Amino acid sequence: MSPVVHLNGQFLPLDQAFVPVLDRGFIFGDGVYEVIPVYSRHVFRLEEHLRRLQHSLDGIRLANPHTDEEWGQLIRELVARNAGDDQYVYFHITRGVAKRDHAFPQNTAPTVFMMSSPLITSPQELVETGISAVSANDNRWDRCDIKSIALLPNVLLRQVAVDHGAAETVLFRDGILTEGSASNIFAVENGVILAPPKDNHMLPGITYDLVLELAAAHGIPLEIGKYHESRIRAANELWLTSSTKEVLPIIRLDAQPVGDGKPGAVFWKMHALYQDYKTRVMRSPA
Ligand code: PMP
Repeated sequence: MSPVVHLNGQFLPLDQAFVPVLDRGFIFGDGVYEVIPVYSRHVFRLEEHLRRLQHSLDGIRLANPHTDEEWGQLIRELVARNAGDDQYVYFHITRGVAKRDHAFPQNTAPTVFMMSSPLITSPQELVETGISAVSANDNRWDRCDIKSIALLPNVLLRQVAVDHGAAETVLFRDGILTEGSASNIFAVENGVILAPPKDNHMLPGITYDLVLELAAAHGIPLEIGKYHESRIRAANELWLTSSTKEVLPIIRLDAQPVGDGKPGAVFWKMHALYQDYKTRVMRSPA
């Protein structure tokens, strides 16, 4: 059965949802998006995701077509109309349909598209074995803090990993760790978690924030800074984080073992804290 999606005020089956070819999302990648995980039908950190959405909209100078209350209602209705207790809601807003011209169109209604899919987080086997990653030069633009639908650089960078049989591409800009092609990256050095700063060179992950909070609440030392490639390659542990992958250990980088080549002690601690938080908080009503 086709999932139910939302397009410009209407709920309809995915296979009946169409956008005109002159939509600026299609023509220019002129839009922004969000992804929100839903656990046991509870939307996770709606407010934080909507704040990040507003930041992205401000970044591309596009007016928010809905209030937070309206977004909340739309998201909850979409979740209710789709199967499965654990879902992830993807939604995006483009600058709408207009004659092709780079400059902003006048008086054009934005396009709002929303869909929900089953949330399948990383299987236990992957958590226990860990994943391989490769590295690449972060050749994206200077506004990686905007969750732009123009993801061609991320697509090309992620494909580098696939071409090498790896799961993610770790990015270095001028030799400094930024993030992954579709995730945030953490390192561990002598028991201390190292995290890049939330600046314009990375997407401020909601999972990134949660990892910081859990570390602070449970006394795991954490340092935020700009870390050179040489330090990252010599780290004891590397992790990636995202809403759908949660926290995953990277055990090989560019075919070299990370630390002793196994998920590390600090990872296991964070993994346990994350799973506990998921059961206690994410699956409970706000
Ligand atoms: N960085 C990039 C480039 C991403 O695409 C994502 C989300 N897939 C993240 C970081 C992680 O963000 P979140 O924790 O909110 O999923």
